Amino acid sequence: MPIDGFDTRFADLLPTAVLVVRGGILRYLNPAARRLLELDPAVPGASDHLMDYVHELDQARARQRLSAVENPAPDAPMAKEASEFRVVTARRNLRIVMTNSAAIALDDGPAIVITAEDMTHQSQMEAQLRESEREFRRLFENLQDVYYRTDVNGVVQKVGPGVRKVLGYEPREIEGQDAAFYYPQSEDREALKQAIAAHGEVSDFPGQMVRRDGQVIDISISSHALFDAQGRFAGVEGVWRDVTQRKNLERELYRLATTDTLTGIANRRDFLDRARQSFADAARRQAPMCLLMLDLDHFKGVNDRHGHLQGDQVLVRFAQTVAALLDGDTIFGRLGGEEFGIGLPATPEDAASMAQRLQAQVRLLRFSDGWGGHYGITTSIGVACARPGDRRFDSLLENADRALYAAKRAGRDCIVADNGVVLTG
Ligand code: GH3
Ligand code: MG
Ligand code: MG
Repeated sequence: MPIDGFDTRFADLLPTAVLVVRGGILRYLNPAARRLLELDPAVPGASDHLMDYVHELDQARARQRLSAVENPAPDAPMAKEASEFRVVTARRNLRIVMTNSAAIALDDGPAIVITAEDMTHQSQMEAQLRESEREFRRLFENLQDVYYRTDVNGVVQKVGPGVRKVLGYEPREIEGQDAAFYYPQSEDREALKQAIAAHGEVSDFPGQMVRRDGQVIDISISSHALFDAQGRFAGVEGVWRDVTQRKNLERELYRLATTDTLTGIANRRDFLDRARQSFADAARRQAPMCLLMLDLDHFKGVNDRHGHLQGDQVLVRFAQTVAALLDGDTIFGRLGGEEFGIGLPATPEDAASMAQRLQAQVRLLRFSDGWGGHYGITTSIGVACARPGDRRFDSLLENADRALYAAKRAGRDCIVADNGVVLTG
């Protein structure tokens, strides 16, 4: 579409939309402008009035601008600032354009040349960006987990607002501080640093932190190493969460699963697990290990004479009495009913004298019969010791059981070793 006084050859090549307008009528559109207004292929009845392509709400502003270009104020700058408009295409689609306009003189009189850049995409992207930024903020502010970033020296650069609830500090109180300050055990932090150094990242790494009020909480950390443009280690970034409740629950579940509810000592499963472990350790170190099996004598009689509840109290007192005589590395558990096991890291001689001490102490126990009288109890004990080269824990268990049975047969209140020797009687 040639027009006099305007070199369209140049404008036809531009990727920017170029429009020449006189008296509100479109005189020339370059191909980019036709694309922008969706005039290709030709739309029957398409308007040639510029304002028909301007969104209703922007028309007043567009008119003002055009008239300012046509009749500039004496001291107005030559070029007006670019301005954003909503455009309605020939196919009734909405676009957002950034326009510039200027007066030009054509051979047959003055006109206005308008350039328009399609910003629809950028505007949408910007809106999306703003929306995702808002969402990110919302998430970040409400996150239960605590985001953190430390520099190469372990100084906290940034910490999320979740830290208020979890540690009781404001983020700005922590930013700039050495992260080590919040770890009650420096080994925890060293282990974390080493794991990150070795693997580049950690997931669900356990640890502890101290709250402002001094309370120690369990945490779980997932983080990764940061590197600068030269590939040098630059710090650590990640999240950690307060898992105290979960840990407490786990500890409670573990306690319930391993403890005998009546006496509070290890239950059968836990006793056997730990004794088996201890047996394997001793075998590896070629250290001695003995097993004592205890069964209360004529316990049915206690129940029969004094009632089941009294029987329970006897079992509790018995367990307390035995436990008081054992030291830390000894394993003590209730195997069932009124039968108990003891795993001792001791020689056969030491195990035998321990059995004698236990037996003597149990004999001293006195229980009230409820009628002003008292009664005592006795226990039979089987002692079995691992021999060098013994591989099977179950043999040790069977030997102890057999020794206990022999002690019962020997008349009760008796200690019998796995070689059949009666130690007391
Ligand atoms: P022995 O000298 O041969 O061991 O005689 P005993 O009477 O102790 O015989 P046995 O081991 O066969 O019986 C154990 C009894 O312990 C049977 C059961 O009623 C009682 N018992 C088992 N568990 C409990 C418990 O948790 N509480 C109470 N009160 N009694 C229990
Ligand atoms: Mg018994
Ligand atoms: Mg029994």
